[in-house]
Amino acid sequence: MDLTEMKADPVHQAERRSGSPSREPIDDLPQAGAAGGKKQAAAHQAGGLDVEEIRAAFPALRQEVSPGVPLIYIDSAATSLKPQQVVQAVLDYMTIYPANVHRGLHTLSERATEAFEGVRDKVARLLGVEDSGQIIFTRGTTEAINLVAQSWGRATLKPGDAIVVSELEHHSNLVPWQMLARERDVELKYVELTDDARLDLDALDAALTDRVRLVAVTGMSNVTGTIPPLERIVEMVHARGARVLVDAAQSLPHHRLNFGRLGVDFLAFSGHKLFGPTGIGVLYGKRELLEAMPPVSFGGSMVVRVDRQRAEWNEVPWKFEAGTPPIAEAIGLGAAIDFLSQLSAQDLAGHERALLTHAHEVLGQIASLRILGPADLEQKGAIVSFTMGGTHPHDLAQLLDRHGIAIRAGHHCAMPLHVRLGIPASARASFSMYNTIAEIDRLGVALESIRLLFRRHSHGQVAPRPATHAATEFPNG
Ligand code: PLP
Repeated sequence: MDLTEMKADPVHQAERRSGSPSREPIDDLPQAGAAGGKKQAAAHQAGGLDVEEIRAAFPALRQEVSPGVPLIYIDSAATSLKPQQVVQAVLDYMTIYPANVHRGLHTLSERATEAFEGVRDKVARLLGVEDSGQIIFTRGTTEAINLVAQSWGRATLKPGDAIVVSELEHHSNLVPWQMLARERDVELKYVELTDDARLDLDALDAALTDRVRLVAVTGMSNVTGTIPPLERIVEMVHARGARVLVDAAQSLPHHRLNFGRLGVDFLAFSGHKLFGPTGIGVLYGKRELLEAMPPVSFGGSMVVRVDRQRAEWNEVPWKFEAGTPPIAEAIGLGAAIDFLSQLSAQDLAGHERALLTHAHEVLGQIASLRILGPADLEQKGAIVSFTMGGTHPHDLAQLLDRHGIAIRAGHHCAMPLHVRLGIPASARASFSMYNTIAEIDRLGVALESIRLLFRRHSHGQVAPRPATHAATEFPNG
């Protein structure tokens, strides 16, 4: 990979890349450039990744938050930064071929249709599934999960059935099931966590009664970074004749699994956490399930014939995509997948593991700081959520911003998980390919200085701190 070349000539790079599709899942693709040649020699971070070259591909990293204070972006679990290649692909669509898809017979529309539909193939390869007709475009993970709940759920579940979720889940993988459970008189069961926030397989086993029709579980917690053992979960759930939905919003940007081989029934993810634009996401479903599911949104594109009183649905996947789809956003997602596929999955994982290990070491040395989630780093991804005695997470986030450090604070749309952890809110640092060991060191220094500031404040030695929030006041996730 040569990301600097990509910057110099993004249009032609993108065209060259999209010209040679492969049917292999991307963790099996030969890794051009990044894993070999002279670039390898330039790699200076753990994991063999040339992080400086990667950073150069993300224009947002060139800015200072205030004069002399460079940006340290460790809020990638909220949304990732976007490489220039993605920006350029969206710009190309907007400026050169901004036509609608499917319906047009002119050159621009054909080009837009080809680019848009080509992204389904890229997503299918990313997920390791053969049939790109199983890829449905949605606005994001939330909409994808709602689609399963409103379509498959309403068509399949009967009073007395049960849905199982875990205590790790984001509200997006909870509230749609709560609504469905209430509507269909279905039980919503929770798999309990261990005290260090791992999913307890014995508890899952106990929850899997004959009444269970679906287990909806995260691929990686957006709070604790916990990675549930998906392979084992799929085996257990299928052995009981139930279906598995994986919320891959957090896991996919970090871990590329072959979901076809794994055999999950449904999977949802968001483009904006995967280096792509907002407003685009994906629902993958097994073909036989999708074919049997009714559409939930109605209008143009999702029909093949309409008379005055009734209509005939289009085939999967289009029957679930009513109206003009998010074309620019899908094309941007395609460019993000191209970008990712230039990098070695192994190198990325190695780099993120090094970041996670270092973050645990650095933050672990700060007095009164409590890291949430598994102590065994093999069981978690590159997210470190924490509390610091005597400081509110919102205050921490505001003060870190003065150091140019972007983190997130609050309940992170996982209120039941915070209740389980016994806290109303936490601060979260979430890492990605463009972060460095030096940035984590700066986070550590900044946190220590904030800790001392609060300690002096509590001894009445300094001026008041920024707005302190009451424990109940967390309007945002
Ligand atoms: N699931 C998890 C684990 C998440 O972290 C998020 C977003 O933070 C979502 C679902 C919802 O994603 P979106 O808001 O893109 O639909």
